[in-house]
Amino acid sequence: MERAVGHILEKINRKDATVLTSQELCDMIDAGDNVGFEDVEVVTAATRAIMSGTYAVLSFPVDTVEKFTRACTVTINGVDAHVGPCPNERLGILDLMVFGTAHSHERENYGGGHLFREIVEGNPVDVDVVTDEGRKYSDTVSIEDMPYAQLFATRHAFKNYSAFVNFSPSPVSTIFHATAFAPDATEATLSGCGQINPVKNDPQLHGIGVGSRILLNGAEGFILGSGTRSSPEKPNLIATADMHSMVADHMGGFATSAGPECIVSWAVAVPVVDDSVFDAIRQTDSAVPMPVMDADRRIKVAMTSYADAWKDVDLEVAFNPGNCRGCDVCEPMKRCPMESIYFNGDKMVLNRHTCFNCGLCSTLCSSVFKAELGSLKFDYEGKNMDVPIVVRQSDRKRALIMAEKLRDSIKNGSFILNGMVERISP
Ligand code: SF4
Ligand code: SF4
Repeated sequence: MERAVGHILEKINRKDATVLTSQELCDMIDAGDNVGFEDVEVVTAATRAIMSGTYAVLSFPVDTVEKFTRACTVTINGVDAHVGPCPNERLGILDLMVFGTAHSHERENYGGGHLFREIVEGNPVDVDVVTDEGRKYSDTVSIEDMPYAQLFATRHAFKNYSAFVNFSPSPVSTIFHATAFAPDATEATLSGCGQINPVKNDPQLHGIGVGSRILLNGAEGFILGSGTRSSPEKPNLIATADMHSMVADHMGGFATSAGPECIVSWAVAVPVVDDSVFDAIRQTDSAVPMPVMDADRRIKVAMTSYADAWKDVDLEVAFNPGNCRGCDVCEPMKRCPMESIYFNGDKMVLNRHTCFNCGLCSTLCSSVFKAELGSLKFDYEGKNMDVPIVVRQSDRKRALIMAEKLRDSIKNGSFILNGMVERISP
């Protein structure tokens, strides 16, 4: 079956379209409801995860005592910014590219992702410039001083991603864990929001394509095409949006044992234009494959599904500060990748705005932090493995909220769904 995007848009305008989140539709499937193509016109899908392929283009004037010819090197809050491509000769203006994975020279566990969030929050950031002539200037700017601040994705929103286990006999430092990865397949981490991932809901890219309007970190932006290393088995997308309109809680930095990484979120409305889209949105977590990778050798060792990650688990950690015994060393506070746990006097605090719902704290102090995180079940070299998940590098809790918000915005007309300009070959 097929329906034209124009027909869907008309129905939305008449407030006559059925718009569901992918979670709602999957819940109906799980409940055994008989859902057909004709029952849904648009599905909203979302993901919030570590997405390394992220950079920002920033352009702003710097306040210096004298005009410089060209900037040679620039750091912002100690994070390297790549100067150019436009040299802005004698203009006193910087054009910069900042990578989401760049690490600060000055602050441990601070990188491009942290910087992007601070910029969006409106915090002042320190800019240090060295010119071609070797002169040094420093300035402090905030997003109001930046006429241009645009975020770009180079490879985001994978159809599905992977789980990781360290099969080697030694701990491994990796971007796929918040702490050193314990050896001998004793713990697992994962990425990917499973059934609600945007491209999982349209893997052949029949409903979304070049020019489709999306929410990137909460700001309206557009899909530009397919990303680096995109393949029919593992398609991913590139997109862009203006940082001035972004929502800080949807983005940020995440400390891994290989340094800070960048958190980004996408919310995408998928028009249900044909059976390929409908068949995809009907796939629930247990039908969404999740490769199990060896974190040490970076090879696939087994397959499981996203049901291991998201079925019958807690999407957020329950917090019981009254159970805190005030230990000399608080491991959850020390290891939280978002620095979301701290003491205010002798009162323990969990900052829900910055918490990524990764779950790590629940594995370190179960009296104060409680969450069922599930386990990976797969066969490996003739053995039935059941490896507990200790860190989630995708935040399905917030992704669900974003998908619901996008659904409501389409229904009330504050988000205008559009048709693509051109198809993308997955
Ligand atoms: S949260 Fe747990 S580990 Fe941290 S001080 Fe309290 S009881 Fe100790
Ligand atoms: S779930 Fe716990 S460890 Fe993870 S970000 Fe939140 S507070 Fe930190």
